Amino acid sequence: MTNKVHILLGAPGSGKGTQAKRLVETFRLTHLSTGDILRDAVSKETELGLRVKNLMAEGKLVDDDTVNGLVFARLQDENQDVLFDGYPRTQNQAQSLQDFLSQKGIELGTVADVHVPQAVLEARVVGRRVCSNNTCGAIYHVENKPSKQQGVCDLCGSPLKHRSDDTSEAFRARMGEFNSTFQPLLAFYKDRLTFRSVDGNRAPDEVFATLETHFKENA
Ligand SMILES: [Zn+2]
Repeated sequence: MTNKVHILLGAPGSGKGTQAKRLVETFRLTHLSTGDILRDAVSKETELGLRVKNLMAEGKLVDDDTVNGLVFARLQDENQDVLFDGYPRTQNQAQSLQDFLSQKGIELGTVADVHVPQAVLEARVVGRRVCSNNTCGAIYHVENKPSKQQGVCDLCGSPLKHRSDDTSEAFRARMGEFNSTFQPLLAFYKDRLTFRSVDGNRAPDEVFATLETHFKENA
């Protein structure tokens, strides 16, 4: 069984995924994301896995109890310390995880929130332009990474497009939905001694240096 779990929190677009990869390598952690755990259970056709398969086939969300059950089973089988990325997703999941950890004597390590102001996330999304040629798929940004000729892909010459998901309205709707579960989750963790809020609005190397310091405190 695992001895310790660390948790990385952050909004979509915060750069959390990139940081998770580096943390896992540096501290030799097992990287656990809910998506991976669900896919793994489905492919192994366990009892819970079959339930997940059916829920997914019906286009339904997998309920907290099922997700928790799969996560806890993984923790029991795991020998290394763990980094959760995208789990817990809700305050309910966080509470169940905490109960499980206490019951099994597993330590809660660093809980880090990679914080990027919403206006910065919005500017990243709204300025994004993608190549309309799907086999190319190059991504540009009107300010941070403009194409040489406006509106034309540098790599293949196809026109660039602004996806309908990348408008302010679509972004704000997504963030509203995200925050309605994320803010209570953050509130659950933020008074804990090992919680750290990290400024994610910096170069990735700088963000990582701060995270590394915090993870060393609880390694
Ligand atoms: Zn292209």
